Amino acid sequence: MVNSALTRWLKQGLARGMCPLCRVAQKLDREYVWYFSDEWSSDGATVEAFARARGFCAEHAEQLRLVEVLGLRSTIGISDLYLATAELLVRDLDSLEDDAWLEREPCPACVYRDEGVLKHAFFFVLELRENPGFRADFEQSIGVCVPHFRLLWDTSERHEDRELLRRVQARAATALAGHLREHLRKQRAEYRREAPGPEQDSWQRAIWTTSGWPSTPRAEPIEDESDQAMPAPND
Ligand SMILES: [Zn+2]
Ligand SMILES: [Zn+2]
Repeated sequence: MVNSALTRWLKQGLARGMCPLCRVAQKLDREYVWYFSDEWSSDGATVEAFARARGFCAEHAEQLRLVEVLGLRSTIGISDLYLATAELLVRDLDSLEDDAWLEREPCPACVYRDEGVLKHAFFFVLELRENPGFRADFEQSIGVCVPHFRLLWDTSERHEDRELLRRVQARAATALAGHLREHLRKQRAEYRREAPGPEQDSWQRAIWTTSGWPSTPRAEPIEDESDQAMPAPND
């Protein structure tokens, strides 16, 4: 059995009714962004790596904003960091030849998360083989999201591992399709009076199941009504 400290987040994901590897990704993101926010100002190498990546990807930049600007109520740290990024960008653009390429290293938070999730995918497959309780919980679960199913499929080599994954995922997808059908049926005028059941949030579960559970917490409540909708593409 895998050391239980290494499978803690996977078990949390199962207990919460979400993809266990998405739970791992959430925890890794939180760990990285908090550590980064606490440490970067005293570590030149961290700032350089951030600048060479041209800042975080959009998802991790939003998480940094939530921690720094909304959490710590300061825009100084984030401005310092992006000043270093903008200064490097100016230097690189000044010397950019027209047959060269503007280099951009991968988002360091994505690298941290992806490496951690890959390790946990191995723990996941081992735990399914060696821990009957974990396997039973997984068999009763809603499976994993599609991107993490693909990762687990790649990680598992044995026929029995893949057969278990495929079976759990197929059962979960069948149940989801049933809930979506039921939700659509109840939207029809003649059935609208029926009380909503567990199918009512099936569209939301369908989004998470196909693209993964989000890591970024919902942003602050929207104050301005006009901000509630996404702007039109040509706005
Ligand atoms: Zn996932
Ligand atoms: Zn990222």
